Amino acid sequence: MSDYETQQVIRGKRIGLPGDGYIPVLNNGFVKYLDHMGGDEDVIEAARTSTGRGFVSWEPYQRCEKCELTGSLSSVPVASLHASPCDHQWKAFPRGDNGLLEYLYVNRHMTPFEMCVGKFLVKAPIIFFRQLHRHRAASYNEMSGRYMQLPDDFYMPRPEDVKGKHATNKQGSGEKLEDWVVKTFLEDMSWGQQEAYSDYKQALDKGVAPELARMNLPVSINSVCVVQMNLRMLLHMLGLRDDGHAQGLTQEVAQAFAQFAKAIWPRTYALYEEHTKYAVTLSRSEAEEMKALLKGDKYMPREPGWKLGDAGMLSEKFLGKFK
Ligand SMILES: Cc1cc2nc3c(=O)[nH]c(=O)nc-3n(C[C@H](O)[C@H](O)[C@H](O)COP(=O)(O)OP(=O)(O)OC[C@H]3O[C@@H](n4cnc5c(N)ncnc54)[C@H](O)[C@@H]3O)c2cc1C
Ligand SMILES: [Zn+2]
Repeated sequence: MSDYETQQVIRGKRIGLPGDGYIPVLNNGFVKYLDHMGGDEDVIEAARTSTGRGFVSWEPYQRCEKCELTGSLSSVPVASLHASPCDHQWKAFPRGDNGLLEYLYVNRHMTPFEMCVGKFLVKAPIIFFRQLHRHRAASYNEMSGRYMQLPDDFYMPRPEDVKGKHATNKQGSGEKLEDWVVKTFLEDMSWGQQEAYSDYKQALDKGVAPELARMNLPVSINSVCVVQMNLRMLLHMLGLRDDGHAQGLTQEVAQAFAQFAKAIWPRTYALYEEHTKYAVTLSRSEAEEMKALLKGDKYMPREPGWKLGDAGMLSEKFLGKFK
C-alpha cells in the first residue's frame, strides 16, 4: 500500500466509513475509499449561490426575509433582542435545509449534486469494468497490461452464484442448477483461467510484446481501476447497477459504492432511496389504470395491446419492486 493509500485509510477510519473505507467484494476484489469532496451541506451551498445565501442548518430555523437574520424556530433569535431597525418578517424552515435538498432532488435540479465528488480504488474482473466504463461522466485510470505483467488473479463465482438462465429476464440468471453442473462449470472455468494465464506467461517469457501476449486472457481476470464520480453520476450509476436487472457480480460491487455513498452523503442518499431506488414510476397508461383503480372504475386500456398498460402489469410492477 502506498503512503497515499495508507493516509486515506486513516481518513476513512476517522470519518467512520464502513469497513474503515475498505469493502471486500466478490472472491478477491474490493472497493476502497480514496477521497471525497463535499458533503450534503455543499449541495445546499451550491444551490444557494443563486441567491447569495448559504447553508444554514439541518435543524428547523427561521429567517427574516428583510434583514436575513436567522435563528431557531422555537425562540426569537438572540440578535433580535438588540435594537434592530428591521421589523422582521420571519419565514419558517420547519425541516431546516432538508426541505431544499429534497426539492432539488425531486425536481431534478441536479447540478448542485455535481459539486460533491468521490474517488475510489476498485479491484474487480474486467467484465465489471466493461459495464462501469459505460458511465461516461466519470473519470477512470486502469491498470495496464501493456506496461505491467497482469497478476494471476481471477474472479471465481461462489457456487451459490452459479445459476441457470432466467425464465423471463433474458440477460439475467435464474433457476438453481444441479450441483454437478455447478461443480463442473467452476472446475472448467478455473481450468480455462489457468490455461490462459499459463499461455500468457509463456508468451511474455518468450519476449512477445505484453500488449499482444495478453490478448487471450478472459474477462474474468481481475483489474484495478481508480474511479472518480460526482454524486449525481454516482447515484445514476447506482440506480442502474445496484438494481435487480444488473448482473449479480455488478450489483455486489455497486453495493459497496452504495455503502460509501450512504456514509458520506447520508441525506442525499436517503433521498435517492426514497425517490429513485424504492420509487415506482408509472407510465401514462399505468397512471390511468391506477386512477381507475382508486375511483373504483373499470379500467379501459387506451390502446389495447400497449404492453405496460395491460391489466396486471401495474400490480406486477409494484409487487416486483417490493418482493
Ligand atoms: C441492466 C443493464 C443492461 C445493459 N445491457 C446493455 C447491452 O446489452 N448492450 C449495451 O451496449 N449496453 C448495455 N447497457 C448499458 C446502457 O445502455 C448504458 O450505456 C449504461 O447503463 C450507461 O448509462 P447511461 O446511458 O445513462 O449513461 P451515463 O454515461 O451513465 O450518463 C449519465 C447520463 O448523462 C446523459 N448522457 C451521457 N452521455 C450522453 C450522450 N452522449 N448524449 C446524451 N445524453 C448523454 C444521459 O442523461 C445519461 O443518462 C446495459 C445497462 C444496464 C444497466
Ligand atoms: Zn429582519
